[in-house]
Amino acid sequence: MAFWGNKQEGESPLPGQQAQVNVEGTLEEGYNDIVKSKGRAPGIDLAIKLSDMILEHAVKERASDVHIESQGANLRVRFRVDGILQDMLSSPKNSDIPLTQRIRVLAGFDPEPPTSFRNEEGRFQKMLAGRAIQVRVSSFPTVNGEKLVLRVLDRQQLGLDLEQVGLDQDAMTLIKKLIRNPYGIFFITGSTGSGKTTSLYAILKNINTPMINIITLEDPVEYRLEGINQAQISAKTGFTWAEGLRTILRQDPDVIMVGEIRDFDTAEISLRSALTGHLLFTTIHTINSASIIERLFEMGVPPFLIGSSMLGAMSQRLVRKVCPKCAQPAASPSEPVVNEFIKNMDPEEGKIVKELILKPGAAYKVEKGCPECRNTGYMGRTGIFELMLMNEEIRKHILDRAPTDEIKRTAIRTGKMRTLLMDGILKARTGVTTLAEIIRVTATMV
Ligand SMILES: [Zn+2]
Repeated sequence: MAFWGNKQEGESPLPGQQAQVNVEGTLEEGYNDIVKSKGRAPGIDLAIKLSDMILEHAVKERASDVHIESQGANLRVRFRVDGILQDMLSSPKNSDIPLTQRIRVLAGFDPEPPTSFRNEEGRFQKMLAGRAIQVRVSSFPTVNGEKLVLRVLDRQQLGLDLEQVGLDQDAMTLIKKLIRNPYGIFFITGSTGSGKTTSLYAILKNINTPMINIITLEDPVEYRLEGINQAQISAKTGFTWAEGLRTILRQDPDVIMVGEIRDFDTAEISLRSALTGHLLFTTIHTINSASIIERLFEMGVPPFLIGSSMLGAMSQRLVRKVCPKCAQPAASPSEPVVNEFIKNMDPEEGKIVKELILKPGAAYKVEKGCPECRNTGYMGRTGIFELMLMNEEIRKHILDRAPTDEIKRTAIRTGKMRTLLMDGILKARTGVTTLAEIIRVTATMV
């Protein structure tokens, strides 16, 4: 596939290829040093040094994305860290240092951007901070010049082990049991950047053995996993989700991962194959676990098919963890504050939420800010989860085409489901994150 055509892909980088750049100071300082050495080295060497320096800084700062923007006469570099963009460099552009060309070549593009709009996506692998890091590059022509976005896929940051995604012990035990079912379908839902792909990968990695055939359909393939057959969807060549799935089913699979279900055909083939001896994992775009069922109804999937194939669903979000260096202890909120907070919730749910917040013994924290966390008060992220397991009561509701609210209430009452908010509160109680952060992240859901 042309997408994988970059010659650097798969090569094991030699130690000599490791970038030798100084990342002690700020990126801005490093950039100024490079600009000062202009004339003493060819521009391309400086561009190589600069791109290496940007990437080294990105890994050091745990950035998930690097934005390199030409803004007229200015060069701007921003990093997304813990979900939030931060300015790293804003300086006069130096036309003697062909930075964007350097990155374009690394990504497998032509050095110069195309004159007419074309979607450009590429990737490369590089030794950074002593480990192989995959970088996915996307180019976009703005009126001010080319904008490059580099997605940094750092396995260490991705936390591809199920133990690292942030599930508590109870949820972990349930999930580990659930993903060892011989057949059925398990859904993960969450907004963009909620970590759902990471969870899917962690699940596949957890069950992967040479004795089973795992095949994935993805768009895009975000990370290459050893021993797993990953395929890239391409609408252009007709390799659609539904077509890909039909092809996979002829490849003797045990476990199938379908990157996303968004149409009837894909949903129907997925759910039917889950009934005929295959174990499927997929994502679907909804706001919580219970509304997955309504989403499938909307696509036209018959209730019996959902009720008989679905093992369960998990909804997730990423929340920022408080900086361990500067976080301060905080008191529990007062009862009137909590009453105000829960007043628009479903009464049953509100009662549980109130008890969870006010129960004695919490070690709440509040963020402060220090140089270590760039004065944000937060460092790193973890997941909060809403795990809904299928049971007889929920199945009966599905067959009756019950509304989402009723399914959710049933899952809480009969399946002991913890909503995202409840799971988040439990995390805040242990001081991993703050109540404010949990409320920010789950605000659209209550
Ligand atoms: Zn701090």
